[in-house]
Amino acid sequence: MKVFHGRQGAASEAKTETFTGQVFGDPVMPTTDGVTINNVFFAPGARTFWHTHEVGQVLTVLAGQGWICVEGEAASPLKAGDTVWIPQGEKHWHGAAADSYLLHTAISIGKTHWLQEVDGLAYEEASAPR
Ligand code: MN
Repeated sequence: MKVFHGRQGAASEAKTETFTGQVFGDPVMPTTDGVTINNVFFAPGARTFWHTHEVGQVLTVLAGQGWICVEGEAASPLKAGDTVWIPQGEKHWHGAAADSYLLHTAISIGKTHWLQEVDGLAYEEASAPR
């Protein structure tokens, strides 16, 4: 057994390489037996690049509102209390709504394979009110 204590003075990590907009991450559990857990905060309009997960990913939404979008489908709204399972190899992105921040815990199993940026028009179309 291992116990991982919460943040102990380390600054939140600004996520820039594979994210659009202002995104901050706090490690919850460093990669252990292939499982990595992070709390991720997205400012309004911020989102991940397109990506896939080697085994899968669980998202639990803690606060705010946002979107998750699988390639070829309309985005699905996310709000506090929602949980998402993303299976192996499914190309997707997740992030905040245009008018709300989003805070989720991401439990990633296996490696994450990063792809291209979600361009602004694609974000607007996927996240437009329906
Ligand atoms: Mn993901």
